Amino acid sequence: MTDFGPVGPPLGPVGDCGEAVHRLYHFLDGELDDDRRAVIQSHLDNCLPCLDAFDFEAELRAVIARKCRDQVPDELRSRIAVAIQHEFKARGLAEGGPPRDGMSGL
Ligand SMILES: [Zn+2]
Repeated sequence: MTDFGPVGPPLGPVGDCGEAVHRLYHFLDGELDDDRRAVIQSHLDNCLPCLDAFDFEAELRAVIARKCRDQVPDELRSRIAVAIQHEFKARGLAEGGPPRDGMSGL
């Protein structure tokens, strides 16, 4: 086994936060295979800003899942989209906002 050190998992291209944040969405959607999940997970383990973003997103989805088991009302969906945009802008993690898969609405 190799000790990869505390920062910069060498497993893949997820070295920068923008890419990691982008993949968070796929991670949360369960779209990634095990290797990619591992890459994201290791980035989260080493990158507090991304971990915060992940927690924020995961929390939102948990709330949505509890309240709207079948579908998200358009109003809530757009409010969440705005909240996410605001969150990411505030953190400066993603220029132009996060990917909007499943949230584009219109
Ligand atoms: Zn990061």
